[in-house]
Amino acid sequence: MTATYDVINPSTEQVVITVDLHDEAATDAAIARSRKAFETWRGVAPGDRARLLRRFAEVVDSDLENLARLEVTNSGHTISNARWEAGNVRDVIAYYSGAPERLIGQQIPVADGLDVTFHEPLGVVGAIVPWNFPMPIASWAFAPALAAGNTVVLKPAELTPLTAMRLAQLALDAGIPEDVFQVLPGKGSVVGQRFVDHPDVAKIVFTGSTEVGRQVMAGCAARIKPVTLELGGKSANVVFADADLEQAAATAPYAVFDNAGQDCCARSRILVQRSAYDRFMELFETAVKGVVVTDPGEERAEMGPLISAAQRDQVSSYVPDDAQVAFRGSAPDGAGFWYPPTVLAPADLADRVLHEEIFGPVVAVVTFDDEADAIRIANDSVFGLSGSIWTRDVGRAIRVSRGIEAGNLSVNSHSSVRYWTPFGGFKSSGLGRELGPDAPFAFTETKNVFISTKES
Ligand code: NAP
Ligand code: MG
Repeated sequence: MTATYDVINPSTEQVVITVDLHDEAATDAAIARSRKAFETWRGVAPGDRARLLRRFAEVVDSDLENLARLEVTNSGHTISNARWEAGNVRDVIAYYSGAPERLIGQQIPVADGLDVTFHEPLGVVGAIVPWNFPMPIASWAFAPALAAGNTVVLKPAELTPLTAMRLAQLALDAGIPEDVFQVLPGKGSVVGQRFVDHPDVAKIVFTGSTEVGRQVMAGCAARIKPVTLELGGKSANVVFADADLEQAAATAPYAVFDNAGQDCCARSRILVQRSAYDRFMELFETAVKGVVVTDPGEERAEMGPLISAAQRDQVSSYVPDDAQVAFRGSAPDGAGFWYPPTVLAPADLADRVLHEEIFGPVVAVVTFDDEADAIRIANDSVFGLSGSIWTRDVGRAIRVSRGIEAGNLSVNSHSSVRYWTPFGGFKSSGLGRELGPDAPFAFTETKNVFISTKES
């Protein structure tokens, strides 16, 4: 462990703590310990593994406020969001604590014998997670993987290691054996790359950008290593003229500006039926100007800063001086990586603000004529992660839901992530699914065993 990293509070630009980074040798040593721990963990009786995970969930619950405050400091998340995120980790672990005794195989009729299937754990699972939701995304990988009998090495994003490191400690406090769940702060190009290349890492779960995801998948292909990818998004919020426009406009800011727009599911394109456009924009302007952008530690905060100066530069590059800005909200002055909620009204459907993931509080609004036009524009994207449809017509809601190429849609709502329902993307937004009842099976191989009953 040679290099170190200064963790910065994005609201104040002050150094919070300096973290030691794993180099390749330290990563290899951790993978070797994980491989050894797997031999024991896989053999822990299902009921005991379940009980240890339930205990882990309880320990997370008792540390909830501490975890939340840590995320406010490290990531600039609003305190109310950060509490939800820590609670999500607790709930995800608790949900998958029900999996060890339910990894049920099949008994398949055959002649002259008995045929059964087993869901065998893979071994060491390597999880690579981004900085935008450090806690929940980590748990969506490690909880079902551990429940299925795997051990886990997890690399947090360099920018946001603190809550993941705390979770590893809480796992030990809960009695999960040493080395079953390890968190390895380090660079993506070092620790992450080593997970991909190391022969003893049996599977990669990657959440991050499409660009890095493509490299990870290529590295896994070279070793025939299974991989789950959760990548970028450019999701559409489709508002029909027959919708409850007040509700659609009041909620639209939070569907894109939540977490300062650093959300893979951000509804960063709003498609409004032409006849409702003026009314929607009038209501939307009031709503955007009402978003409370302030110190994320304040209870009333609805949006905090961006994660880094580099991210703010990146976001600003989408809003040059001659940008077609419809209106903007506010942001504090002074220290911190602040950027105000910004609404663009691009005249051209080919404008890059409608196609590239900005990953900041910037949304582009366009019009459409009819249902077919709405579906065509919504699908004019390399991404397909989530989206919303606002209409009072049930048939239309279902037709448009079936027509949009995306993994997670909501009608007359913007919810997209519930830990007990599957989550993931179409097209360049990803490969495979996380969460929901089937997630543990993504961390197993199916084994078929035939036992002869013939008399010899
Ligand atoms: P990123 O740059 O792709 O990084 C993601 C993770 O990969 C980080 O831990 C990073 O480490 C690591 N990494 C970088 N290079 C690597 C390599 N060569 N091999 C292995 N790992 C490597 O993404 P980000 O900027 O942190 O996060 C934003 C992106 O994540 C957005 O595109 C967003 O849409 C996406 N996202 C998707 C979902 C989803 O569920 N679909 C959820 C959240 C976010 P370092 O950062 O330490 O270098
Ligand atoms: Mg990055």
